[in-house]
This record gives sequence, C-alpha cells and structure tokens, in this order.
Amino acid sequence: MGQAKIYYDSDADLGVLSNKKIVFLGFGNQGSAQAQNLRDSGIPNDQILIANRVDSYAETAKAKGFHVEHDFATAAEVADVLFILIPDQVQPRVFNEQFSPKLKSNATIVVASGYNVFFNLLKFQPGQDVVMVAPRMIGSSVRSLHEKGRGFPCFVSVEQNGTGKGLDAALALSRAIGATKQGAIASSVREETVMDLFAEQALWPNIIMMFREAFNVLKDAGCSDEALCYEMWMSKEPAEIFERAADDGFVAQLKHHSTVSQYGQLSGSLKLEGGAMREHFKDILYNQILSGKFCEAFSQIEDDLDKEGDTNPLNELYKRSEEMELVKAEKRVRARLAGLL
Ligand code: NDP
Repeated sequence: MGQAKIYYDSDADLGVLSNKKIVFLGFGNQGSAQAQNLRDSGIPNDQILIANRVDSYAETAKAKGFHVEHDFATAAEVADVLFILIPDQVQPRVFNEQFSPKLKSNATIVVASGYNVFFNLLKFQPGQDVVMVAPRMIGSSVRSLHEKGRGFPCFVSVEQNGTGKGLDAALALSRAIGATKQGAIASSVREETVMDLFAEQALWPNIIMMFREAFNVLKDAGCSDEALCYEMWMSKEPAEIFERAADDGFVAQLKHHSTVSQYGQLSGSLKLEGGAMREHFKDILYNQILSGKFCEAFSQIEDDLDKEGDTNPLNELYKRSEEMELVKAEKRVRARLAGLL
C-alpha cells in the first residue's frame, strides 16, 4: 500500500456549499460538535437544519440557536446535504424508512463511520453522492479543538459519486467542520470499518485476555490485589506509555524506561515470533469481519440491545466479565480506597 493522500483547507472550496440546505440528523456527540463547527466556518444559520425527535437533544439544539425539524420526512425533502449522525445501529431503520424515500435524487449523504455503508445496510439512489467524513475523535474534542483554532484527525472518502462532484462536496464539508485544518486523510469505508472492527474484535479482546491471565498468574504467585491493580492499570502507567508512544514513537518511548525494563521489553518481544497470533488475527479479519459474519450476527441481536436486564446480550456479557478475578479484586480495592482515589 502506498502513501495516503492528505487534504488540507486549501484543497477545499466552501463555495460549493452556497445556498445548500445542510441537515444534521442527530444532535448528539458528533452532531452537536459538527453543526456548531460548520456554522462557525461561516455557513449561514438559515442553511442549517437539525433533524431530531422531540426531546432534550432537540432542546439543546434550539438553545444554541439552530433551526430544528422534528418531522423527518420534511427534513429529508429539503436536504441538499444530509449528515447521518445518530448511533450506527439505528441508522438503517431510521434512514431507510424515514429519509431515503424523501431525499432529493442528487443529495449528498455524509456518514461519520464506514460500517453501514461498507456492509450495504443503507439504501441510496444512484444519483446521490455518498461520502465519509469520519473524525478520529470524540465529539467534545471535535468541538473544543476547533474552538481553539486547531484541527483534528479525520478520514475522508467518496463512496458513491452520483453527481460527479462528490469529492468537491466531501472536501468542502470536511473543511466546514474543521477537519482539513490539520489534514484529512483519504481513506474508504472499507479501511475505516476493517480497522475499527479489527481493533474491537481482535486487538482489544487479546489485550483484555492478557491482562486477565497476567493478573491470575501473578495473584497465584502471591502478589496482592492492591499491588496488582496499581501496577497493571490504576497508576495510569499504561495510559502514559501510550501517550508517550504517540508523542515520541512506538519503540522510541521505551527510552523513558529503566535499562532493565528496556532490555526486558525489547528482548522479550523479539523472542515472540507471533505466528499463531498472526493466524488468529487473519481468521478474525477474513472469516469474521470481511466475510460479513459479525455484521449478520450483530443485526440479529441489535433490537435486544435496548432491553433491560439479562435479556439484553450486552448486559449478559458484562455480567460474565464481572466474574473475572481482576474485576472482583478491583472492586474490593476501590471500595477500600474510596475517598483516596
Ligand atoms: P450519539 O449517540 O451521540 O447520537 C445521539 C443522537 O442520535 C441524538 O440526537 C439522538 O436523538 C439521536 N438518536 C438516537 N436514537 C435515535 C433514533 N432511534 N431515531 C432518531 N434519532 C435517534 O451518536 P454519536 O455522535 O456518538 O455517533 C454518530 C455517528 O458518528 C456514528 O456513525 C458514529 O459511529 C460516528 N462517530 C462517533 C464518534 C464519537 O465520538 N462518539 C467518533 C467518530 C465517529 P434522540 O434520542 O432525541 O432521538
């Protein structure tokens, strides 16, 4: 793979947005941040419309001076640009049933994550542009960095170029929400989805498993709960290591550690050939993620995720995870140190 193209403010022309009605479906984490950034970039308030059900998100949008439409069909009819910024799992139902039938045949549809587009869960018309503008930051940072005059990392792509001008729209919208200030990286819904799901389904489960087993082995070897919790994560040492890795370099950050530590980490990691892990990772990538198996299985349980109690599969997973000795020990330590933490 070669180098990715990076787009800056100078690559984008806000002029392509003039007189366009820009609708934000959702005023949550990303919706509120992106709509406010866009308005600060000089897009007139009358061109912006927030589509939200009647509730506190809608009230917040009104309090910030935005026009709010509760009727999704009306919002869909007027939209030249539609940002879909509601949770991924509800997007297919809400978009396909309430927006898609009413949207203009040449509308630009913007997603902030690749999942639903990559797995073909959203219904678009052939003349529409479908673009991804996906900040790599939580909404509050998208907003606060913009307020400080700074940018934030973001992926951008054109997935369907119905009008032939999809890239111009994607770049103008990226610039308007502040995403090209620091450089928006050319990507795709495939790349974004694969990396996200891989981290969630391959990398982090292994990290959680390694912490669980390390805790068990060290506890059996006589280490106390208190010492283990602090040594392994409560001291925030791992968080600091990742912070230094981002600032100084993935391996270069090791120079901040003691010589014993540097020698142990480098010689230990080089000794682990990683073949079995590579095969395990490939299995998850190809047979679970890219095959669509995970997406299909998740679609089956999606509706149950709104349920209360044990019939919600996520609650059931939490319950089982809380059986880990690491979690039980942490609860005891936190209760004992309450007030000191
Ligand atoms: P939120 O959970 O903050 O979305 C809340 C908004 O969605 C509210 O306006 C809420 O309004 C609305 N909403 C929720 N359920 C429904 C429903 N059934 N029908 C209609 N509206 C609904 O979403 P995020 O901002 O976290 O995520 C939006 C998109 O941004 C996703 O694609 C996500 O992957 C992506 N993204 C998110 C990041 C983050 O920081 N969280 C980072 C990068 C990308 P109400 O309940 O009133 O209807």
